[in-house]
Amino acid sequence: MLLTLTYRGATATDLGFLLHKHPERVHEIALPHGIAHVFFPEASEEVCTAALLVELDPIGLVRDRRGPEGESGALSQYVNDRPYAASSFLAVAITRAFGTALSGRSKERAALAESALELEARIPALPCRGGTELARRLFLPLGYDVTLDEAPLDPAFPAWGTGPYRALTLRGRVRLSELLAHLVVLVPVLDDDKHYWVGDDEIEKLLRRGEGWLAGHPDKELITSRYLRHQRRLTRRALERLEQEETRDPDEASTAGDREEQSLERAQSLQGLRMRAVLEVLAQHEVTSVADAGCGEGRLVKLLLDEPRHTRVIGMDVSPVSLERADKRLDLLSMPPARRARLSLVQGSLMYRDARLEGLDAIVCVEVIEHLDLDRLPFFEASLFAAARPRVIVITTPNVEHNVRFATLAPGALRHRDHRFEWTRAQFAAWAARVADAHGYLATISLVGPDDPEVGAPTQLAVFVRGTEGA
Ligand code: SAH
Repeated sequence: MLLTLTYRGATATDLGFLLHKHPERVHEIALPHGIAHVFFPEASEEVCTAALLVELDPIGLVRDRRGPEGESGALSQYVNDRPYAASSFLAVAITRAFGTALSGRSKERAALAESALELEARIPALPCRGGTELARRLFLPLGYDVTLDEAPLDPAFPAWGTGPYRALTLRGRVRLSELLAHLVVLVPVLDDDKHYWVGDDEIEKLLRRGEGWLAGHPDKELITSRYLRHQRRLTRRALERLEQEETRDPDEASTAGDREEQSLERAQSLQGLRMRAVLEVLAQHEVTSVADAGCGEGRLVKLLLDEPRHTRVIGMDVSPVSLERADKRLDLLSMPPARRARLSLVQGSLMYRDARLEGLDAIVCVEVIEHLDLDRLPFFEASLFAAARPRVIVITTPNVEHNVRFATLAPGALRHRDHRFEWTRAQFAAWAARVADAHGYLATISLVGPDDPEVGAPTQLAVFVRGTEGA
């Protein structure tokens, strides 16, 4: 069983520091059912690759009854894919060999451990129970480029076709700890081997390793159920906890923050102006299907529905609490069926590619990007501009220069306690131009709210039009 991790960077051999393994040595780590070797087949200034080779002890596995049982009888206890196919044994080896890196710590290279790096992971034999498409479905939403190569079942007999395993390559800009956590959870999920006893502490492990990504993953139910070996009670409890994590995160700060932000901006009823500006853009571009992504409590969704030209309206938010409020505000239960049929309220995250956002005329994100961590913004860009790719994208965000005009806002403070950043006009323009350029859109920026000759209006609005349409 083999995993290789490749880092391309300024001082690529720093990978050794991150993994706490010296690139010039071979390391051996004892495992419950075998041994792991860590070595570096390549270690130059530009490229560094670490290999984790796991040798399982099949006899030991049989003694512990952890080998496959199945219908094929005693032989399969000794002759099986366990030594070769990536499975929970690989996950265990990762946690043992790279535990510190998995936890995101590094004594010597703390800043690097926190940074998104150009990383590549390869697993030459990945089992994909449920079809190879599943591997793509699980890794794509996490922002990776995914390659799954087939291999012949037996090179000597091409007529036998390809084997059930795939060579997996993941490429992306991620923190090493994230990449390892994704592998530790998703490799056993793809293997879906049920022979392993799972106790309550597996929920804690899953939640710890899934922190920050599992709660928003479109396949979180499948992942949780398989990780917990299809034990319904455990799965239900884990999913409840994930739900809490998701609501806690953006929301706790949100509700109080929303009130502060609203009172700050009320004088100019900025929210109303913003929504009107967005509706105008959609009318100009004759949009008929639209998603309000990060819809919050659904104020704009209501206005979108009021416009009969919009035959399909999606309100999407990562926070179930916000969606519940939207549900109430829109009075979904007593909505006339024709209006109801045009609307979907869905839970989902802009960090992940989401098929439900594909094929639309327009996607709008009103006051959302500033709630995303700056280093996660590339995932937002990928899911919106590369995957969903609507004809028109509208993004609004605060103009931080205007903050000095809010009398009640402390100098240097941001408008909302959940805001991760607020941009100047130049910063937003530079970002919009870069993203538009990278994805074949044309960006136009305008300001919303009372203009101020010195610091500009309070809100900035970018319209991105795909292709040459806006030229
Ligand atoms: N568009 C609304 C809400 C803005 S507040 C308005 O203008 O009033 C930001 C919203 O973005 C919150 O509802 C928050 O839950 C949501 N959000 C934060 N991160 C998100 C993500 N990754 N994907 C989707 N929505 C997200």
